[in-house]
Amino acid sequence: MRFCPICGSRVRSERSGSSIIFTCPKCGYTYKAGESEVKEESLISLKEKEVISVVESSIDTYKPLPTTTIECPRCGYMKAYCWISQTEDIDRDATKFFRCVRCGYVWREYT
Ligand SMILES: [Zn+2]
Ligand SMILES: [Zn+2]
Repeated sequence: MRFCPICGSRVRSERSGSSIIFTCPKCGYTYKAGESEVKEESLISLKEKEVISVVESSIDTYKPLPTTTIECPRCGYMKAYCWISQTEDIDRDATKFFRCVRCGYVWREYT
């Protein structure tokens, strides 16, 4: 059983060639099993570390996220990680998610 490193929800696994892709149905985060070491650990807030420490045995690695300049609605910090949700709902466009670098708050961009 795998869990999303962002929101802690259970993720779905999907085989893709020789690797397995995990997709979070809640926030859309995806990562690949067996990818290199975790590079983002030092950037994760204490609160998220608690969550991850609970589930880390079930997570191999997850890909580092790019950052963008956007204001956090919670703390006002101007930098956040961003990623795109690949929704299976064809009636909806992909949704952009952000996670504050400073406080770890996650929000989505409504278009
Ligand atoms: Zn998630
Ligand atoms: Zn923030």
